[in-house]
Amino acid sequence: MTYVVTDNCIKCKYMDCVEVCPVDCFYEGENMLVIHPDECIDCGVCEPECPAEAIKPDTEGDLESWLKLNADYAKTWPNITQKKDAPSDAKQWDGVSGKLEAHFSPNPGSGD
Ligand code: SF4
Ligand code: SF4
Repeated sequence: MTYVVTDNCIKCKYMDCVEVCPVDCFYEGENMLVIHPDECIDCGVCEPECPAEAIKPDTEGDLESWLKLNADYAKTWPNITQKKDAPSDAKQWDGVSGKLEAHFSPNPGSGD
């Protein structure tokens, strides 16, 4: 198994998760992060750190498409290990539904 980043990270991207990961397996897109499923050691430390509750264990069910998205973009987006400032409008987007369809960006972030 692995942990995966899901919809509510999009445009929230608070980044509290990256600093606690013992194996630095977060990768940064323009407006969300993903976890590399082959690098994640399933420790679960990041899950309660996410203020947006966007991180889930892939055993939770119905997360296959998110697992694929995490795996695909972890290959091309840059690694991120240090927290940056959240977007100024992050609070406004927290909890908005359907962000994948409307707001997901395949562009990479800037990484560390
Ligand atoms: S803490 Fe949650 S919302 Fe913030 S970047 Fe990490 S997964 Fe995304
Ligand atoms: S579960 Fe552990 S290893 Fe996996 S992304 Fe979260 S903090 Fe990193």
